[in-house]
Amino acid sequence: MADSESERNGMSRRDFVRGGVRVAGMTAAGALTGALADRAAPAREVWQIDPTKCVRCGRCATECVLPQSAVKCVNSFDICGYCDLCTGYFEPDPIDLNTGAENLLCPTGALIRKFIEDPYYEYTIDEDLCIGCAKCVEGCELFGNGSLYLQVRHDRCLNCNECSIAKVCAGDAFVRVPADRPYLFKTMRSH
Ligand code: SF4
Ligand code: SF4
Ligand code: SF4
Repeated sequence: MADSESERNGMSRRDFVRGGVRVAGMTAAGALTGALADRAAPAREVWQIDPTKCVRCGRCATECVLPQSAVKCVNSFDICGYCDLCTGYFEPDPIDLNTGAENLLCPTGALIRKFIEDPYYEYTIDEDLCIGCAKCVEGCELFGNGSLYLQVRHDRCLNCNECSIAKVCAGDAFVRVPADRPYLFKTMRSH
């Protein structure tokens, strides 16, 4: 397992698998690695969000140069409580704990709830729908385990010289990381 310093600085795909860290929304890591190699091979560093600095300001959804943000929500299964009443999934004081639109916090229906066994549910992210608005991240951070967080997805990001989100990020959370370790995963130890 990588030491705590290298965990904070990001983990390679190999570390990711060996460490047993499972992150929803990053399960297509094979395709991801290939896409990263294609798009960012010349770059030694790429943009990433330090999840410990993000203050969920919402600008990741509005400031990316892409029509739909390259920033997506991910869920650390190591940290997630698999809660029935998930405060990242449900509106505060939902009418009912079901997938009715009136009960859901996510504006695009990108957070997917799947029954595992009573009383546990698994939450994953449909990245094609996720706009990186951080509403679920805020709910999970304030009242849950903080397992939901934002990451720049490198199968989408153009790795602009000056990231337009970084310029306005309220938490100064955008950092440059090595292109071969492009994610800053949240784990039990870094949490
Ligand atoms: S609430 Fe926002 S950040 Fe969370 S899954 Fe939905 S679109 Fe993505
Ligand atoms: S580097 Fe460019 S494409 Fe990537 S998140 Fe920032 S603005 Fe979006
Ligand atoms: S712009 Fe910065 S503080 Fe705001 S949601 Fe994105 S990473 Fe978090």
